[in-house]
Amino acid sequence: MLKAVAEAHPIDQHDLHVTATVGVSIYPDDGREAETLIKNADTAMYHAKENGRQDYQFFEPAMNVRAVERQSIEESLRRVLERQELALHYQPIISLKTGQICGGEALLRWTHPVRGPVSPAQFIPVAEDCGLILPIGKWVLHEACRQARAWSDAGLPLARMAVNISAIEFRDVQFLKGVLTILDDTHLDPKSLELELTESVLMKRPESTESILKTLRATGVRVAIDDFGTGYSSLSYLKRFPIDALKIDQSFVRQITTTPDDTAIVTAVISMGQNLQLRVVAEGVETRAELAFLQAHQCDEAQGYHFGRPMPPDQFAKLLQAGVSEAVLH
Ligand code: C2E
Ligand code: MG
Ligand code: MG
Repeated sequence: MLKAVAEAHPIDQHDLHVTATVGVSIYPDDGREAETLIKNADTAMYHAKENGRQDYQFFEPAMNVRAVERQSIEESLRRVLERQELALHYQPIISLKTGQICGGEALLRWTHPVRGPVSPAQFIPVAEDCGLILPIGKWVLHEACRQARAWSDAGLPLARMAVNISAIEFRDVQFLKGVLTILDDTHLDPKSLELELTESVLMKRPESTESILKTLRATGVRVAIDDFGTGYSSLSYLKRFPIDALKIDQSFVRQITTTPDDTAIVTAVISMGQNLQLRVVAEGVETRAELAFLQAHQCDEAQGYHFGRPMPPDQFAKLLQAGVSEAVLH
């Protein structure tokens, strides 16, 4: 069935392509009534979608456990904003040239009243699926900009506040207007805001992407590509779009000093960044050996547990005041 559907459909001189994802449930094992069978087939289909489109999957009872779990996260997520369960933590980004903190990344934290802390990797995909990422993302951007401005007013200027933007937010027609309004409301200098987008965002709808990125550039807001190297990399977009920085994904950094392939990838990304005049930031730096490698290869900036974990704002303010200790830089 999948093969048949995937064939081109010639309609009015155009070859149209559609793909399908199939979930299968079997009577009587997976249900005795039509309603249950359809519900379980639906659950199996969502699983197939998660594993990449154009696939099929048979229903398994364990899937229900996950579906219920997801449902419960979604329900609690609907109330996070009014119940003020969200907070931002900040992780320092270090300039390898000066050894100073040149930026901070805002990372979302959710403390569920019963479950306790829930990781963003767990709840952000759910928030994306049910559309809640839009109000949540707005809250994040507003809070990060407000905080950056407050630190600047307190004499603790942060050159760059980095904020993660989900693909769903970026595609929303109100996105650009939302960013500009928040900058206006919080009086943050647009130059000190950097939006982190993933490669997949840039690959779709290049015309509208280009126009949004150009408007951001004109206002002074910077753009970084997050998790660089893990997506469907098309290097042509690096030239086409106004981008300021590349963040090398931590999976490459992790193996810098042990796996020759990753050494080659990291070295190549750094020199490509230099040639295209893009700032290169290494993510997930955990050890002195990784730092030494990045310094030796003239990587611009680094972020990771070696310099500091994501921390609550009061702690980050203290770090901004004191600077990172000399000991971690050599
Ligand atoms: P990301 O943007 O790539 O953020 C970096 C992640 O790596 C963070 O995980 C950070 O805590 C972690 N990390 C930093 N240094 C190290 C290190 O040295 N070693 C290791 N093992 N990990 C390190 P976190 O906070 O759990 O966030 C995970 C992802 O969730 C983020 O990846 C980002 O994609 C997403 N995310 C977080 N906050 C937001 C947000 O406000 N909005 C959106 N749309 N996504 C967010
Ligand atoms: Mg990020
Ligand atoms: Mg990343």
